[in-house]
Amino acid sequence: MTFDTFGLVEPLVRAVREKGYKIPTPIQSATIENVLKGRDLMASAQTGTGKTAAFTLPLLQRLAGNLNKNKHPKVLVLTPTRELAAQIQDSILTYGKHLDVSSTAVFGGVKIGPQMKKLRQGVDILVATPGRLLDLHGQNAVNFKHIEVLVLDEADRMLDMGFIPDIKRIQSRLPEEKQSLLFSATFSDPIRTLAKTMLQNPIEVNVAAKNSAAETVQHHLHPVDKKQKSRLLSHLIQEKGWTQVLVFTKTKHGANRLVKDLGKRKICAMPIHGNKSQAQRTKALADFKRGKVDILVATDIAARGLDIVQLPLVVNFDLPHVAEDYVHRIGRTGRAGNKGQAISLVSADEIKQLQGIERLINRHLHREEVEGFEPDHALPESNPIVKKEKSSKITKLPGKKKSNRRSRWSKRTNQRRNRTASGNK
Ligand code: AMP
Repeated sequence: MTFDTFGLVEPLVRAVREKGYKIPTPIQSATIENVLKGRDLMASAQTGTGKTAAFTLPLLQRLAGNLNKNKHPKVLVLTPTRELAAQIQDSILTYGKHLDVSSTAVFGGVKIGPQMKKLRQGVDILVATPGRLLDLHGQNAVNFKHIEVLVLDEADRMLDMGFIPDIKRIQSRLPEEKQSLLFSATFSDPIRTLAKTMLQNPIEVNVAAKNSAAETVQHHLHPVDKKQKSRLLSHLIQEKGWTQVLVFTKTKHGANRLVKDLGKRKICAMPIHGNKSQAQRTKALADFKRGKVDILVATDIAARGLDIVQLPLVVNFDLPHVAEDYVHRIGRTGRAGNKGQAISLVSADEIKQLQGIERLINRHLHREEVEGFEPDHALPESNPIVKKEKSSKITKLPGKKKSNRRSRWSKRTNQRRNRTASGNK
């Protein structure tokens, strides 16, 4: 299957080809046509599966050549973090570079003035974090009356970060008649409840086994005493000549401390977490991508959705409290078919978290002690795992009552499919 089999217009197919994508990923194959048809969607997809293109490509097509007379946004993408908002905006610019569709991203932590100015100039697609969007709406800087599509990205993380009330507030201000797409790494009960309130007769897409870790990732576990972790990490970095490593710590304080420790051993590392200003986070990420910084030390929330192409290695300096975060963390490596490694430094007091992860990913992590770093406090044996079945399916969810939106939307889509536009705003 190729991208032109979905009925995407030529400028989009060209942009995807220029980006180097040859075949669609499973989430793209399962969603693009359905989104083009105007269907509501509930998709289980973690970061690294190509989900951004899965919703961006058909939505760009929807807007292409459709003159925005009133300058108000037609597509609203809600996402939990600033980094993710900036990355989605980057993807929109990349995929839409041969189309005349305008977009902007708004998020907290930076001045609101320039965002208001940009909105006044008019946009087709608005990517936003919930808090800043409500601020802007409260100040009449954005009008929701013309929203035709709502995308809720990383819904499970929105829930973890306490954004659901904000999302409900935003939802209540949007037109009733619209297409809604919901993406989430996991489908917990609260996410399903949210889905019921926002989706009409949705298609459910589940491209990977629930909570499965990327198959292309090799997992390693080094048992080590807590106090020796920082020395072991420095040893591994120096001995193996690692560069471009994303290291996860549980806390912001832990991230800062580790960066300091690595610095003392002449290893160039930068922290990225919620206490850093947006400018600091952007700079750390840019320096890391450029190779100026070898090690990026991140907390889970800050790292969520970071798009660093072909990241070879992710290190879990601490295991996450929530087992799903292990899957999110390693989503940073082994992306879109590239091989990656996930290395976890695990101390005896983390056995509960380890067991939670092993249960979730359906396998034991292979343990390898590193010479000179054998732990005094032995890591207890893990419990046996009961294997679960994998699933890959597309099913329909029972949803709210059907409206006539789809037929009108299909008509509009077909009209648009024939048009192509050039240039880029
Ligand atoms: P996402 O899950 O949207 O964050 O995408 C993960 C990574 O996969 C990004 O670096 C994309 O540029 C890349 N990607 C998306 N779609 C494809 C594709 N069809 N082929 C190869 N790489 C892709």
